[in-house]
Amino acid sequence: GGKGRVARGATRLSALSSETTTGVKRNPNLAKLGAGYLFPEIGRRRREHQEKNPDAKIISLGIGDTTEPIPKVITDALQGAAAGLNTKEGYSGYGAEQGMGGLREKLADRFYGGLGIGSDEVFVSDGSKCDISRMLMLFGADTSIAVQDPAYPAYVDSSVIMGATGTLNEETSQYKNIVYMDCLKENGFFPDLSKVGKTDLIFFCNPNNPTGACASREQLQALVDFAKRNGSIIVYDAAYAIYIEDGSPKSIYEIEGADECCIETCSFSKYAGFTGVRLGWTVVPNKLKFSDGTPVNRDWNRIMTTCFNGASNIVQAGGLACVTDDGFDAMMGLVTYYKENCKLIRECFTEMGFEVYGGVNAPYVWVGFEGRPSWDVFAEILEKCDLVTTPGSGFGPSGEGFVRVSAFGNRADVEEAIMRLKDVYGK
Ligand code: PLP
Repeated sequence: GGKGRVARGATRLSALSSETTTGVKRNPNLAKLGAGYLFPEIGRRRREHQEKNPDAKIISLGIGDTTEPIPKVITDALQGAAAGLNTKEGYSGYGAEQGMGGLREKLADRFYGGLGIGSDEVFVSDGSKCDISRMLMLFGADTSIAVQDPAYPAYVDSSVIMGATGTLNEETSQYKNIVYMDCLKENGFFPDLSKVGKTDLIFFCNPNNPTGACASREQLQALVDFAKRNGSIIVYDAAYAIYIEDGSPKSIYEIEGADECCIETCSFSKYAGFTGVRLGWTVVPNKLKFSDGTPVNRDWNRIMTTCFNGASNIVQAGGLACVTDDGFDAMMGLVTYYKENCKLIRECFTEMGFEVYGGVNAPYVWVGFEGRPSWDVFAEILEKCDLVTTPGSGFGPSGEGFVRVSAFGNRADVEEAIMRLKDVYGK
């Protein structure tokens, strides 16, 4: 479509085309973005396949959305808070932009107990992705960044939109002014820090989306030491920390010195099935300072009070239930369920002779299709198995040759998906 309203300033372009435009110049940073955010593109291809094959029962092990119902202890709290809004006693309007005091305290206790993180360092939000994009506002356009390659796309895309990067080099699929830290099977999916240049920010997702790799304590200590040497800030994305089962650190604050160089963001999305409910948090330690000595926490507070008006009161009540003992056990029940899917998916690809990574400390299995472009493999699996996966190269050039298979799915769907895969690739 695109027929805008009549705009006075729009004479020049509208003289050239029949469409009406405004006189507003497009944000050049948005124009720098590549073909589109990965997941909408996958959605488009899925719809196209469905239109061509109306009877296909497509199963998605693609975008990494949760499928299983939220445990009742948690929905009871959501329902109670919603019903309470209908009463004088239960009604509340705007709350603190930083989140309910009680929830901030409980999050600090539950996830950072003994790590010296106080409730004033925990900021409740509507999710990690939102916090990641607001973080770019915290640092501004004149900030250099490093990301793991491959990486969850929000770090790079938010940085591009903020203007912290140059243009996309179509040949390498990399933006200028971003340092890409290669995470390959050759280095165990942990970057060779001796080859990484100095940047202001280091986005680090652990356990990793998409590779499913989980860094050891020694690796994380090396990362923190590296950041401290360079005077960098690590933005540590712990969205999948609850999936860690091998004793590796679940928070970056388990690492010596991290409170002087790390922000940690986390979310109930993959913990409690809150992808649609929306609740996350970000920890900004008081000890973390800008070069002029300003506490980052103070500026983050300013950003949150300006850009955000507090997470939903109903949803925060749900969050409070998540951090009770019963709620936490229930979340672990969900994690265990998805981990069983991981095991099935890992076994399937391993049996068929593929290289399989991840899926132990993370809900993603990273499958190698050596020598084949990821998008071709994605298309083939969709075409032949009616299965949606995620092409590894969509997460960055180092993801080429891999496909990410998400373990977020109903067991029956996962079992069906495995049968279809074995039919096509198991021979
Ligand atoms: N960080 C990572 C690494 C993710 O994979 C995701 C979601 O897929 C998010 C953040 C977004 O989390 P939220 O739903 O809290 O915005």
